[in-house]
Amino acid sequence: MSYTVDTQGYYGPFGGAYIPEMLYHNIETLRRNYLDIMQEPAFQEQFRSLLKDYVGRPSPLYLAERLSAAYGCQIYLKREDLNHTGAHKINNTVGQILLAQRLGKTRIIAETGAGQHGVATATVCALMGIQCIVYMGEVDIKRQAPNVARMKMLGAEVRPATSGSKTLKDATNEAIRDWINNPEDTHYIIGSVVGPHPYPDMVARFQSVISEEVQWQLKEKTGRDHPDIIMACVGGGSNAAGIYYQYLDRPEVRLVAVEAAGLGIHSGESAATSVLGSAGIIHGSKTLLMQTEDGQIIEPYSISAGLDYPGIGPMHAHLIKSGRAEAISITDEEALKAAYHLTRIEGIIPALESAHAFAALDQLAYREGDVIVINLSGRGDKDLETYIKHLPDHE
Ligand SMILES: *Cc1c(COP(=O)(O)O)cnc(C)c1O
Repeated sequence: MSYTVDTQGYYGPFGGAYIPEMLYHNIETLRRNYLDIMQEPAFQEQFRSLLKDYVGRPSPLYLAERLSAAYGCQIYLKREDLNHTGAHKINNTVGQILLAQRLGKTRIIAETGAGQHGVATATVCALMGIQCIVYMGEVDIKRQAPNVARMKMLGAEVRPATSGSKTLKDATNEAIRDWINNPEDTHYIIGSVVGPHPYPDMVARFQSVISEEVQWQLKEKTGRDHPDIIMACVGGGSNAAGIYYQYLDRPEVRLVAVEAAGLGIHSGESAATSVLGSAGIIHGSKTLLMQTEDGQIIEPYSISAGLDYPGIGPMHAHLIKSGRAEAISITDEEALKAAYHLTRIEGIIPALESAHAFAALDQLAYREGDVIVINLSGRGDKDLETYIKHLPDHE
């Protein structure tokens, strides 16, 4: 079975491009050009050079000795938290801004929920001197003031989405409307492995640098290029896609996808899409999503803004449904506990999203001595307020 995209833009039964007629031109231009552009030697050279000197790659692969001792296995952390802007999202926005330039685009739009993807996009637009407009729900603008300030300081215009629930999905609708009206000069930077083909494949390829590095880093450290288990949190699924990528066709490597269970899978306040979801169409692709019987999207919930999404990327829907990846769901409380534990045992404050992946160690079946790589997708600075609020009493 193949786990990468097929020529029609599908991963098994999931994926495709379910878009309004008026977006066809934009998507088709991207689809026809993205692979050729990404394979140009000059593109690769500029992309690699920026990843090295601007983002700070390669990110270290760190053997967490005390954490390993606590679990009786060898746990390596892929330190995406040390990237410029504090997470893996910058790998993708650097790639897409270079692609947009080669397509002759002079204007960038993006949508953002918590503001992390908006900041990563505004950052590369400042780097290249390109106009940047970020759509954000009015409610999210109020909730995420520091990221709004960052985007503005970086020169981006933050446009409020005032319809519906005034959150991510409404911001996405506004961005799509903008793109339809500005097909010639504008590129839409999507922040995860979601959306119509070719976005999931394009974003996965930009993020695949993560597993490319893991291969040689692990070889250097352990003498073999693969771990027994790879764990990553899944919101849309881009950090997971990046760290799985080189291992998709290596069945000896177990892939573990960690989702947010919020207050509990069946509490009504959850984002555990692989358990609660069914096939449907969201943001232009066929995938698993949380929906009512008549197809209305159910509002997701997680303490971590980056996992608070009602779907998952089509690649992950296929990986999970085909049995190639195992899914584990982690509640808010479990994630918080894991974050405090990692901080105290390794001196690393993880992003709340990444903390979910660490909490899954408690639910995972593994053998003593297994080599486990966990994607530490981001740093926890942005979550400090939440961490302080929930700090255990005895601290
Ligand atoms: C956005 C974000 C995520 C979730 O996005 P994916 O596309 O699933 O990777 C996870 N971790 C961090 C730190 C994030 O900022």
